[in-house]
Amino acid sequence: MTPTASLLLLLLLGLSQALPLQEEESEEEVPDDTVDITTRILTSNNGTDEILLEGDLLAPRTRNAMMCWSQSCLWRKGSNGLVVIPFTVSREFTSWERQKIDSAMKAFHSRTCIRFAPRQNERDYISFENKAGCFSALGRVGGRQVLSLNRQGCIYHGIVQHEINHALGFQHEQTRSDRDNHVRINWENINPQMAYNFYKQSTNNLNTPYDYSSIMHYGKTAFSIQYGRDSITPIPDPNAQIGQRQGMSYWDIMRIHRLYGC
Ligand SMILES: [Zn+2]
Repeated sequence: MTPTASLLLLLLLGLSQALPLQEEESEEEVPDDTVDITTRILTSNNGTDEILLEGDLLAPRTRNAMMCWSQSCLWRKGSNGLVVIPFTVSREFTSWERQKIDSAMKAFHSRTCIRFAPRQNERDYISFENKAGCFSALGRVGGRQVLSLNRQGCIYHGIVQHEINHALGFQHEQTRSDRDNHVRINWENINPQMAYNFYKQSTNNLNTPYDYSSIMHYGKTAFSIQYGRDSITPIPDPNAQIGQRQGMSYWDIMRIHRLYGC
């Protein structure tokens, strides 16, 4: 075989292997529009060893998560009115994955006073890591706090924003103190061992309306015992869409403004 012919063969072989890969990549993007964020998060977190509350909140070791609405659990605002949050990103992520994380952070920059900045030597910071699932602590914990984005199931714009919102101090929308006026929890469709994920919390709702379109709202089938049986039903209109997947809603952004005084 001439060198040119063997080079051509190599190129063809490379091409035939590259094509299915490309297809896989585009396939991965498609479910983004058909599966809600929480379903994706909960699927990714199935089997993780971490002790998680409500599917993706790290159980605090030193204090009650409910108290996180006090100022001590918030990130501090500088004299210039900006809330700078230092962060590091694990080297395990590829540059494409780092870009996804970066663009999710930029969405906060363009619409709120939150600013993520690479850590210099600050004590408190978010460490983006590739652990077993998508999860975060609630609010600022102190020291290094892990925000896990598993490379297999969590690198989506909406999921990164959802977990960052936890780190800012926001809980899930359907655990709001006033949720019973807006959704019905179908306890009979929920595994009793998972029921605690739906307990109401004493949340600070910041004078904002209950928001079906919040990025912090579970989808209808979260923790359902069986396919086709919904765990959450919007009331009075059961067909209302909940558990969206694009990104922060108008009220998600307003809440950041109110909580941090942007
Ligand atoms: Zn969550």
